[in-house]
Amino acid sequence: MKTRIVNVGNVPIGGGDTVLIAGPCTIESEEQICTIAELVKSSGAKILRGGAFKPRTNADSFQGLHEQGLEFLSIAKAKTGLPTVSEITDASLLPLFEDVDLLQVGARNMQNYELLKALGRQNKPVLLKRGFAATYDELLSASEYIKKGGNENIILCERGIRTFEPYTRYTFDISAIPALKSMAEYPIIADPSHAAGRYDMIKPLCLASTAAGADGIMTEVHYAPESAVCDGRQSVKPNLFGEIAGQVLEISALRRVNESNSKSEDFGELRKMIDEADRELASVFAKRLDIVKQIGQIKRMKNIPVTDSERENEILSKMDDNLKRLYRTIFEISKDNE
Ligand code: PEP
Ligand code: MN
Repeated sequence: MKTRIVNVGNVPIGGGDTVLIAGPCTIESEEQICTIAELVKSSGAKILRGGAFKPRTNADSFQGLHEQGLEFLSIAKAKTGLPTVSEITDASLLPLFEDVDLLQVGARNMQNYELLKALGRQNKPVLLKRGFAATYDELLSASEYIKKGGNENIILCERGIRTFEPYTRYTFDISAIPALKSMAEYPIIADPSHAAGRYDMIKPLCLASTAAGADGIMTEVHYAPESAVCDGRQSVKPNLFGEIAGQVLEISALRRVNESNSKSEDFGELRKMIDEADRELASVFAKRLDIVKQIGQIKRMKNIPVTDSERENEILSKMDDNLKRLYRTIFEISKDNE
């Protein structure tokens, strides 16, 4: 299915190059988010992530800096020019998210239908994360709640599902990328950070996601993961992010070349040109038949034989063999219509 383009600030997502989204799991301070924003921007990130409202599994875990966190995110946005994405957990918080460009619905809220309805009634793009026990159909059904309100600026996100494998935090479902691409028109981004839960697997998963067709990659980046307040184990350092970014963009460019090659193998463009040429040919042929008819009428009025094989030979003498074959048929059709 053709992927629609969703604009996040001035960054288009969908059907083009894989867009890099990066930043800390959670905003910890103005200094932290601004430093990370500059670092990821210099490596090619186009959108800055940072959580201010954190729906944590454990009620005692850090819950985010809330309004202050969003203020720090705005400062980082103003300094770098990067559009931002942050998770919204309740529709009543919408006024606080005025300066946020992409509203994230977290995995735990994928089926929070009142939140989805409210996000459908406003027009900022929505990043809808797949619940970790949700099927593709359930994810798409959740997206319908947003669409029904009138907002079709939806981006889907694969962030790992729960399986029996404990080595990783969740299991990254690479199949989700091609599957959702064929089931829905929304762009899909991959979040290997929350899937793997380990920084050492982020690079291969980012590269695989890009090759599989992801329209974007979202990764958690921190300059001091050991002391990060949240999700340090899965956060990559800026250097590693730089490496990932470079290779993601290389694979993305390669993928685009392949896509455009396979498009030309479909002969789509060439077939359009043939159709156009055939329309011209049909119109010229009709015009020729009309002239032949007029000559036939005049000849009949003057009692001159209608068929003039000398004239036919004269016309054919100027032609190559292919055209001669075509014109012999044209003469026959003309005689039938005279
Ligand atoms: C996040 O992206 O900050 C997050 C909490 O992710 P998820 O909802 O996928 O767990
Ligand atoms: Mn996180």
